[in-house]
Amino acid sequence: MINVTKTYLPNFDEYTVTLKRAWDKAWLTNNGELVLELEGKLKEYLGVENFLFTNNGTIVLQMALKVLGITKEVITTPFSYVATTNVIIWEGCKPVFVDIDPNTFCIDASKIEAAITSETEAILATHVFGINCDIETIEAIAKKYNLKVIYDAAHAFGSTYKGKSLLQYGDIITCSFHATKLFHTGEGGCIIANDKELANKLMLYRQFGHVFDDFYSIGINGKNSEFHAAMGLCVLPNVAAIIADRKRISLLYDASLATILQRPKMENTLSYNYAYYPVVFKSEEVLLQVVEKLKEQQISGRRYFYPSLNELPFIEKQPCVVSEDISRRVFCLPFYYGLEDEHIQTIITCILSIIKK
Ligand SMILES: *Cc1c(COP(=O)(O)O)cnc(C)c1O
Repeated sequence: MINVTKTYLPNFDEYTVTLKRAWDKAWLTNNGELVLELEGKLKEYLGVENFLFTNNGTIVLQMALKVLGITKEVITTPFSYVATTNVIIWEGCKPVFVDIDPNTFCIDASKIEAAITSETEAILATHVFGINCDIETIEAIAKKYNLKVIYDAAHAFGSTYKGKSLLQYGDIITCSFHATKLFHTGEGGCIIANDKELANKLMLYRQFGHVFDDFYSIGINGKNSEFHAAMGLCVLPNVAAIIADRKRISLLYDASLATILQRPKMENTLSYNYAYYPVVFKSEEVLLQVVEKLKEQQISGRRYFYPSLNELPFIEKQPCVVSEDISRRVFCLPFYYGLEDEHIQTIITCILSIIKK
């Protein structure tokens, strides 16, 4: 069985040795030694100052909207994981979908201005598959209309844009360290604020709004544990190797597929993390045939992202033709550290047998 992804696991003994430090202190959560150490290392890796390790990559989006005081309309992308849209609705705000760029699959910045109303307060965009949004245009629009910019950077860990981590751009940046992500802590995530005051508020939000007996604000439980931090400490030193191996697989797929299948495009200002390997088939029909063919070989990819989020059954419908079209035809191929050449060739052969028909 070959799945679309396989969690990278560090050496088990190394994990238990790391975890033993928490064990010896009988301290499993609440800013434990391992959480603090991981935060220090991730700050350095990402080149950011205000970094908070959290329990997932969804609660941080909620915290972001809350800390920025967003209550009305949020301009967002229909091509992302469902969490991006859910959070906007969960926080009582209204998602306003702007269609995507057919090249990068990220929000089409040239269409944002037309969607701004007197109720617009923020832009929440996703760096899809680890490829950057049009950061400069979005920043200029945000300045002009006094909007906040939040990036869901759940795919962007390890990508650098103009020499800096993609997680440095925006007012607030969130990431997921879920087991399926390139860098992971089992479950986990982070939030980065470029403003110190916001960062301090977020730190309180993460721990119920209080420090010992002093109660400052509302809050929620966004903390993560020593178990998860230990995983992160063991995975982080291997991130370069993980990215290098994904590059190997990407080049193998490229050699057979890149000229015959549509792929998202990126500029050379991006140093890519190889977070996913999406391909876009000619039609949904072809996609479904490929899915069947792979299934015969016990191989599964993932229709990611599908459906286009503007088509979710619980929201007011707003058309986004590019996103709807790509969502129906996009497919992420198996892509993970250690995926063997032989299996890559089997996947390629399956795909070619369908599309060359
Ligand atoms: C994975 C993911 C999330 C959610 O992260 P969790 O850690 O699973 O809560 C949010 N947005 C995007 C784009 C994701 O890929």
